[in-house]
Amino acid sequence: MDNFTKTKIVATIGPSSSSYEMLEKMSREGMNVARLNFSHGSYQDHQQVIDNIRLLNKNTGSRIGILADLQGPKIRTGVVENEPLLLKEGSVLTLTTEETICKDTTIYIKYEFFARDVKPGEQVLIDDGKIVLRILETDGEKTAKAEVVSGGNLLSKKGVNLPNTKVSIPSLTPKDLADLDFLLEQEVEWIGLSFVRSAADIIELRHRIRKSGKRCRIIAKIEKPEALEDIDDIITESDAIMVARGDLGVEMPMEQVPIIQKMIVNKCLRIGRPAIIATQMMESMIVNFSPTRAEVNDAANSILDGADAVMLSGETSTGKHPDRVINAVKRIITHVEAQEIYNFPINLNRKEQPNKERFISNEICRTACRVANETNAVALVANTHSGYSAIKLSSYRPKANIYAFTGNEFILNALSLVWGVRCVYYDKFVSTDHTIADIKYLLKKQGFAQPGEIIVNIASIPLEERGMSNMLKISVI
Ligand code: PEP
Repeated sequence: MDNFTKTKIVATIGPSSSSYEMLEKMSREGMNVARLNFSHGSYQDHQQVIDNIRLLNKNTGSRIGILADLQGPKIRTGVVENEPLLLKEGSVLTLTTEETICKDTTIYIKYEFFARDVKPGEQVLIDDGKIVLRILETDGEKTAKAEVVSGGNLLSKKGVNLPNTKVSIPSLTPKDLADLDFLLEQEVEWIGLSFVRSAADIIELRHRIRKSGKRCRIIAKIEKPEALEDIDDIITESDAIMVARGDLGVEMPMEQVPIIQKMIVNKCLRIGRPAIIATQMMESMIVNFSPTRAEVNDAANSILDGADAVMLSGETSTGKHPDRVINAVKRIITHVEAQEIYNFPINLNRKEQPNKERFISNEICRTACRVANETNAVALVANTHSGYSAIKLSSYRPKANIYAFTGNEFILNALSLVWGVRCVYYDKFVSTDHTIADIKYLLKKQGFAQPGEIIVNIASIPLEERGMSNMLKISVI
């Protein structure tokens, strides 16, 4: 039996990791979800990775899900004539939205409403905040003047953050819409939306996905202060959340990010939305052979916070040792999860409200987790079609391993992101008794349960109606 850890690993794929061979190594080390970042790469590159992952799943029986991040309303500077262009502290720059080469004190900002949106006194952060400007004046149309507050060398096409500005770019840019068409065609399991500002952004994306008839799930990337103002509704409307600490730490004072991370994970746990902690987990391993002690601490603390998944970016996309990074993270997860301290004070006695939409299945999941904890069950098994009950069980963070038995190929890979859930393909629709007997046999055969051990099953009966969970059974292998 392989190492059954609960916290999942998301790895961004790039030039260092896109080959079939490297993906296979990363999968063996413990990668659960492969992430494609649509801020970089061509459709051809992304197609190759998607094909490799699907082939790997087919060849090895792995269940690696695919997460594709749409770039969202990311603003960038233009091309610099002679790189680097030194921007000196105290100098005054002309920021223009008319396409031009960046040189001397003229900087091209690739966002047509920049001069209209910014106001005097607001900050402009370039290249992850390495360069800081303050708006002095704007003509409200094409040009603004800004003073360099903190100078530095400007390279081409660097990201621009406007933490104090109400930016009027739509949440899905023309590039995002084209990328979305590609992703819907591929039916990737998860689509990440960058720079989410309100729940309305999620609703719009959901509407487009539904219209296409595809099943892709939505991850809201939390990286703007505005998103925090609407965080409860964003979590409710999304299928999962990413704490995108890179941009969040630029748009907000970075010392606030650790507490925001804990707040978001807690809220996600409360309503059963998977939470991913992203960025700079093992940053030094982009070049180094092992992580710094501070990085190990950060990863361990994210696991202790209760994250469903920790995410790697440059470490696996452009870094020198993508498979080694996964190995390092997996070792941290294994160690932390084995400790007494790794438990979550989730109140399993808190009853769901009877008037809620999924009252019965929620109550079944809560009770199943309570019973599994009290009986020291080794497995909590959900027969699921939509994945809902597996995610709900997971949100109670039970001690038993969670197995989702499903005939839905899409869900099989999508649940790879979710804490503690392992999927098993199962598409028989016979009697409940027969199914439970079958499941017990399969768990025993694969070494997931031993004779005499307790398992807890939940399902919807009759099975073939694929309804919401309404049955709970405790039995002994
Ligand atoms: C981040 O900013 O932390 C993040 C995950 O976003 P991206 O990698 O898309 O810049």
